[in-house]
Amino acid sequence: VASDRPLLEIRDLAKHFGGIKAVNGVSLTVNRGDVAVLIGPNGSGKTTVLNVLSGIYTATAGSIVYDGKEITNLGPARINRLGISRTFQNIRLFPELTALENVAVGYYRRGTVGLAGALLSRPRGYREEREAMEKARETLHFLGFARLGVKAKNLPYGQQRIVEIARAIVSGPELLLLDEPAAGMNHEETEVLSQILYRIHARGMTMLLIEHDMSFVSSVATRAYVMDFGQKISEGSVKQVLSDPAVMKAYLGD
Ligand code: ADP
Repeated sequence: VASDRPLLEIRDLAKHFGGIKAVNGVSLTVNRGDVAVLIGPNGSGKTTVLNVLSGIYTATAGSIVYDGKEITNLGPARINRLGISRTFQNIRLFPELTALENVAVGYYRRGTVGLAGALLSRPRGYREEREAMEKARETLHFLGFARLGVKAKNLPYGQQRIVEIARAIVSGPELLLLDEPAAGMNHEETEVLSQILYRIHARGMTMLLIEHDMSFVSSVATRAYVMDFGQKISEGSVKQVLSDPAVMKAYLGD
């Protein structure tokens, strides 16, 4: 049965950049409904895992199976169409577009047209544009975001992040990848973010995130994986990994 199968299985994944072994034999399994978090010191390979997973980099070795299908080294657009969506560490909104328009772009992206195509050419009919706007409106409403007509560049940082998340989920992905969603947020913004992630999770979406804010991680994550020097050094509940001596050693450095 589909639901007995893990949603994502990464097996012995490696990504080397010349002599740099950014990821060096990582295996991890994300089950449906997990809010999984990847933690570890800077440079331990977390973002590289996300980049290979979302098709931005090709793997040096290993395999990625999503929903029973081998997806290793498919391009970002195909991976996205299979139901994996992501946000980036640095906000990548279109500054001159409104919050609503930015999210609608995410809906176009689920189709065959690339990001540039969606913006530059306008091959789509009125109906499709209406549908994208409607979905964008629905998604922002679902996340409790009301400033639909404000240009992205005029939104405070925390709200820009929420618009990015809305853009990532507007096409209804099953797996959402978030690269440091709480980075740069103040306490209040982080609170809003954790409520938003609860809401998304309650809708049945599975998440894999990278995050440094441990109190945030403790409040949202159901499972944690710790990386150091390109390898997985611990896994379990957040509480378990944070009391693992190997993890403490990695964070204290040498
Ligand atoms: P983290 O996300 O845990 O901070 P990264 O995955 O960003 O770690 O980086 C892991 C290692 O891989 C670092 O040594 C980094 O410099 C290197 N690295 C990441 N991306 C590239 C790249 N495109 N080219 C060369 N080295 C890279």
